[in-house]
Amino acid sequence: MKFFLATKNEGKIREFKRIFNSLGIEMLSQKDFESIMPEPDENGKTFTDNALIKAHAGMEFSGLPTVSDDSGLCVDALDGRPGILSARYSGIHGNDKENNKKLLSELKSVPESSRTARYVCAVACVFPDGREFTVSGECEGIIDFHESGSGGFGYDPLFISSIGKFSEISAEEKDKVSHRGIAISKFEEKLKDYL
Ligand code: IMP
Repeated sequence: MKFFLATKNEGKIREFKRIFNSLGIEMLSQKDFESIMPEPDENGKTFTDNALIKAHAGMEFSGLPTVSDDSGLCVDALDGRPGILSARYSGIHGNDKENNKKLLSELKSVPESSRTARYVCAVACVFPDGREFTVSGECEGIIDFHESGSGGFGYDPLFISSIGKFSEISAEEKDKVSHRGIAISKFEEKLKDYL
């Protein structure tokens, strides 16, 4: 079975392909198509709104059942920011280095006990016949005072989960506790009802 994954984020593509392949589902991404998917306006108010916007755009483009996730980091001391703006926090979409720099600077005077945060991931699935569903997952952690590690992507060099920093544990360990891993397990359960 083939699904289209509507994202250009290499980190997400790696994580989705790894998990979906283990379910026997082939995940096609933008790279498998010659034309370029038009970028939808991510103007939703929630992660779920934006995941649905991207999944609908991906289904229109590919004609395949389409999966999309919208995810981000919500920091308590920043009233939930960067939240749905996580990818473009520093003003430049997808610039992980600048995003991490901005986050560290905003938390400069925040002590360890108040650096609590969570990753949130909403996954949407849209079928060509009009059916759709969404699931979500969360992962609690603490924002470190400095970046370290070379694994993961995005804010991972700053995010300490209950099993260690996401940039310093293996990809498989991350999948077990991560917001995306949790959302995809729920996805797997729900998908059974739609196949
Ligand atoms: P989206 O593509 O609009 O969903 O943006 C997601 C953004 O949230 C990414 O660019 C990262 O900055 C951040 N993010 C989401 N999930 C993760 C993760 O697993 N690790 C690190 N950063 C993440």
